[in-house]
Amino acid sequence: MSDPVVRSERRGPVAVVTMNRPDYRNAQNSAMTYALDDAFTEAVNDPEVKVIVLAGAGKHFSAGHDIGTPGRDVDVSFDRRAVMWWDHTDRAGGDQRFARESEVYLGMCRRWREIPKPMIASVQGACIAGGLMLAWVCDLIVASDDAFFADPVVRMGIPGVEYFAHPWVLGPRAAKEVLFTGERFTVQQAKEWGMINRIVPRPELEQHTLELAEKIAAMPQFGLALAKKAVNQAEDLMGMRSGMDSVFGLHHLAHAHNAETSEDSLGGQSARSMRDANKGA
Ligand code: ZN
Repeated sequence: MSDPVVRSERRGPVAVVTMNRPDYRNAQNSAMTYALDDAFTEAVNDPEVKVIVLAGAGKHFSAGHDIGTPGRDVDVSFDRRAVMWWDHTDRAGGDQRFARESEVYLGMCRRWREIPKPMIASVQGACIAGGLMLAWVCDLIVASDDAFFADPVVRMGIPGVEYFAHPWVLGPRAAKEVLFTGERFTVQQAKEWGMINRIVPRPELEQHTLELAEKIAAMPQFGLALAKKAVNQAEDLMGMRSGMDSVFGLHHLAHAHNAETSEDSLGGQSARSMRDANKGA
């Protein structure tokens, strides 16, 4: 039997949910998306779990959405319990893209951001494009000193990944630099911009994340849930939710433009061409 794409384990009051496609730098396919959703649901429903940690197995947190591994599954239908849109697999064109991305990208990320228990992302190595979305939905981010980040999708003609938190988590000026250049930014840069909470040496990442989680777990559960909701509501009052809705329309304009004028909705770019372009940058 092959390894599960997501592993879950309990460490006292902490549920550790680990993306487990290390051979593909934890590229996120739909199988992983729905497995994450199941793991988070289980952690929320378990009254003993106070804090959830999201981690990635291997050298990298996440290379982003799966646009080129053998496990790519964009045409596969999954059991869609969240029902955020209709199934995309029998649709065409914009209907198909909007249905799929409304559910598995924007919808799932928002759903996870609103999980009523504190979530900590534990990030090492690459955290690219869709990987940023996974880190950003968590309440806190602990990153190791080898972590690096990028959202290079403007190279595809697309104005950032689907969960458009950039201006709120980076600040407008840094958001523009990250998007306009597509270049990697370092963990120190991310800390300076306020995107992450702590930088720790790589060998201490897991231990440090768990210690922080256990400290939080000592607080009353309902108080934590209300504090989380309070800050999330404040972010939404700063325009995050409505901003994301409007940018999601621009995102899909870009996909549609690409589909009309190039070979596909990604502007003819592949995982390989994106990697090569970024190496040249
Ligand atoms: Zn998209």
